[in-house]
Amino acid sequence: MHFLVPGIIAYLFFKSNWKKVWLIFILTMLVDLDHLIATPLFDPNRCSINFHPLHTYYAILAYVIFLVPTKTRILAIGLLFHMLTDYLDCFWLN
Ligand SMILES: [Zn+2]
Repeated sequence: MHFLVPGIIAYLFFKSNWKKVWLIFILTMLVDLDHLIATPLFDPNRCSINFHPLHTYYAILAYVIFLVPTKTRILAIGLLFHMLTDYLDCFWLN
C-alpha cells in the first residue's frame, strides 16, 4: 500500500515525470521518523493520526497550505496521501 499505490497515482496523474513524483511520494514516508520519538517506539494498536507530531491535524493543515505553491504541491499531495493511508490503518484497527 505505501509503495505501490503512490506509484500508480504518480503514473496516472504525472505520466511525464512519474518516477520523480513517485520518489517524492516515497520521501514523504520520512514523516514516520516522528514515530522514533514516541514511547513505546512501536505499538501496532496505536493510531498514528493525532499521536505523532507530524501526524496531527495542525501538521495536516500545514500540508494543505503546501498545496498552494506549485513547488511544494507534489510533496503536499504525498504527505496528505500518507496521512490518508495512516488514517485508513486506524480505521481498520477499530
Ligand atoms: Zn505515518
